[in-house]
Amino acid sequence: MMNELLAQAHAGIKALQPYQAGKPLEELERELGIKGSIKLASNENPLGPNPKVMQAVQQALSQVHLYPDANGFYLKQALANRLGVGAESFVLGNGSNDVLDLIARVFALPGSEVIMSQYAFLVYPIVTQAVGAQAVVVPAVNYGHDLDALLAAITDKTRLIFIANPNNPTGTYLSATSLYQFLKQVPANIAVVLDEAYYEYACFELDDYPQALPWLNEFPNLILCRTFSKAYGLAALRVGYAIAQPVIADLLNRVRQPFNVNSLALIAAVTAWQDPEYLQQSLVLNAQGKTQLQQGLLKLGLQPIRSAGNFICVDLKRPAMPVYQALLQQGVITRPVANYGLSDFLRISIGLATENARCLAALEQALAA
Ligand SMILES: *Cc1c(COP(=O)(O)O)cnc(C)c1O
Repeated sequence: MMNELLAQAHAGIKALQPYQAGKPLEELERELGIKGSIKLASNENPLGPNPKVMQAVQQALSQVHLYPDANGFYLKQALANRLGVGAESFVLGNGSNDVLDLIARVFALPGSEVIMSQYAFLVYPIVTQAVGAQAVVVPAVNYGHDLDALLAAITDKTRLIFIANPNNPTGTYLSATSLYQFLKQVPANIAVVLDEAYYEYACFELDDYPQALPWLNEFPNLILCRTFSKAYGLAALRVGYAIAQPVIADLLNRVRQPFNVNSLALIAAVTAWQDPEYLQQSLVLNAQGKTQLQQGLLKLGLQPIRSAGNFICVDLKRPAMPVYQALLQQGVITRPVANYGLSDFLRISIGLATENARCLAALEQALAA
């Protein structure tokens, strides 16, 4: 029987493509009849959980009958102290995806336009469409953001521009100079979201990666997004945050669900934030692993895109799906990115040295088959 309610649903939401979630690792192994597979598919931290975080979370378990602190007081305080901006500039999210959604809900009105780049993070069109706004996708240049083209796409209807720096899935980044010039040219009534999910890696590895935080004074329309999912190793706990001028953060906090970040996640984030050693270890491991993977891929005759993140997007020069499947059979899980329009590419997260080596060996075998 027809469900009449369906016709009443928001058109933008009906047009959304459902998120293609991967199977749980255990289920995949059961189906393939393999064990000990490695997951290089979601840009997670290969170091595993921070022992200090595990201990703090364990202790906090005795309080799970209580609602979490709705304001994330201690986490904001810790962030504010180190970053040198007031606690009122922060918006905490259930992962930074939550924050991206809040931003779209506040600024992307139905019928308005939201500008983003081709090959940019898939969450941008999702949150845009979900509020009935129009995603304006600007062709990429060298797999990255074409800032001039983004500027040229601005119309009277533009309310929001999403920029991922570094970009996922391609790994490209924008330099401080180019981004600053761009921001100067964006009208002040258009929000610019700088999604810096891979900030820590890019900062560690690049001299010309922007320090955008001080720009918040000069550009009141700028919103930065960062996360604990990647370099801090807390992907499962879901903590991300936005930094913006207090009046903007205040608006975002009004639509935020009061308990969107749970108490275990809050304590984990504070603990991770105050442990520079785990972070440093993660960044060093990533830089080394990236060199290893990059060189290995080149040796196989493939074309990796130079990456500023913790993953490499590589051009296989042939349809990626069969290669992805062949890797799976060998217990190496990577990420096909055909849904980004990159059907000849695989995105491979940087793993431990042994994992990178195993991935390269499996890839060599898969390509020879
Ligand atoms: C991984 C990633 C995020 C972070 O998502 P969380 O919700 O914080 O886990 C945000 N933006 C981009 C571009 C990413 O790749």
